[in-house]
Amino acid sequence: MKKAALFLLLCCGLSMTAWADVTRYFSAIQSDPHALYAFLRAMPKGGELHYHLAGGAYPEVMLNLAATKPYCLDTATGSVITTGSCSAAMSSHNLAVNTDLYQQYLKAWSLKDFHSGKETAEEHFFAAFSKFMPVVAENEAQMLVDVLQRADAQNEQYMEILTIPDDAKSASFGALLKDKATDAEKLALLQKNEDFQANIKLTVAKGHEILQQTRSLLGCDKNPMAKGCGVEARFQYYILRQLPDDEFFAMSVNAFEVAAQSPDFVGINLVQEEDVPAALKPYKRQMQVLNFLQQRYPKVHISLHAGELSASNVPPEDLRFHIHDAVMVGHDERIGHGVDILHEDKADELVKTMTQRNIAVEVNLTSNAWLVGAKSATHPLHYYLEHQVPIVLSTDDEGILRTDLTHEYVKAVREQHLNYQDLKIMTRNALTYSFLPGRSLWRDPKIFVRVDECQSYSALSCQKFLAASEKARLQKQLEDKLAQFEASYS
Ligand SMILES: [Zn+2]
Repeated sequence: MKKAALFLLLCCGLSMTAWADVTRYFSAIQSDPHALYAFLRAMPKGGELHYHLAGGAYPEVMLNLAATKPYCLDTATGSVITTGSCSAAMSSHNLAVNTDLYQQYLKAWSLKDFHSGKETAEEHFFAAFSKFMPVVAENEAQMLVDVLQRADAQNEQYMEILTIPDDAKSASFGALLKDKATDAEKLALLQKNEDFQANIKLTVAKGHEILQQTRSLLGCDKNPMAKGCGVEARFQYYILRQLPDDEFFAMSVNAFEVAAQSPDFVGINLVQEEDVPAALKPYKRQMQVLNFLQQRYPKVHISLHAGELSASNVPPEDLRFHIHDAVMVGHDERIGHGVDILHEDKADELVKTMTQRNIAVEVNLTSNAWLVGAKSATHPLHYYLEHQVPIVLSTDDEGILRTDLTHEYVKAVREQHLNYQDLKIMTRNALTYSFLPGRSLWRDPKIFVRVDECQSYSALSCQKFLAASEKARLQKQLEDKLAQFEASYS
């Protein structure tokens, strides 16, 4: 039996007529980007698993926040300074009244109207973070409000958001490690260091506070139906890959500890440009550090940015092993980007392993087009799909990139020629491959066969199963929403 036919029999939980109606409607509108956007915005989505808080909130939100606070502007660089005082001419209040200044900052903080010149898109993108990061550090809950409201408006259910509530203070403890010869000695020192342990506790507490404050700002306690309240949010603590070795080690220990201690942090990640010497040279060593720590914190989930590289930016030798080492050495459970897969040594074997281990790839089409030039036929999305590697669509940094998750779905249809069935699989994947606790609703996540307990949703065994698994509860909610959405086209 063909895979598509098998999918239809197993997947849908609705009549073949309803399935035929929704797919017929999709076929009718797929070449109309506006109708497609409206359809896909309404389509229930599992959510996003690759989302940077700092780059996700739209710069407009940060600029509006900055305009109401006593910050200073460095107009030469397009930066904001949140400490100290300055003349009235340099006050951030001017952002509210000076349109030219506002536009200058909006362009400095995003790819709005960007054209390559002195800077490439990649350089402009990564430079933006340091310009607005002081605003992020003081306003994370306000920014998360923007993020969750936009996600809710697109019918998303869940987000894994990358943030470091200690503002990377953990890295500074690397200075304590310079006389220690082995990783075991370094770890032992940090585990005994009171200040380092206090930083872990601070990270955990601040992360929890951000989530609570966000729900309070959204008004979820008074009105659980308020916009944004329907989206479940969890964090990943990320490690900066361009740090010197000891700083990288200290930040990594902080990451593993925070994810081990706090239910708000469901995993760890590795970020920053991958194609610069500061990231390329230590790559193998960094995977060894993750391997060392994973053995000591085996329950911590790991998703790594890996293979966000292009042949035009690095020598061929650097394209051959990043995804492999992330999977085989760094215990990576999900790959962020994975764009250079076809340059990897023995790529076919590698994707076979990824398929067998259910290692998903977080695909960010807009980001990949801007930052590594992978678009349309040059993007490896279909290579992964042909090898049954699970795919999850995400935005990466929707605020800087001027996109949203619906737009990524539209791109997947218009540029990658995916159909409704492909998108439905991907929207389910966003929960199946999430780091939410609990067993998955799917016994076989590739063809969506439910676990034995939930062959009937009304069975007592299924109610017990759902009560015990947060992941399965959200999956069941998504199934209900999808069934309702599809039935509305009958
Ligand atoms: Zn990313």
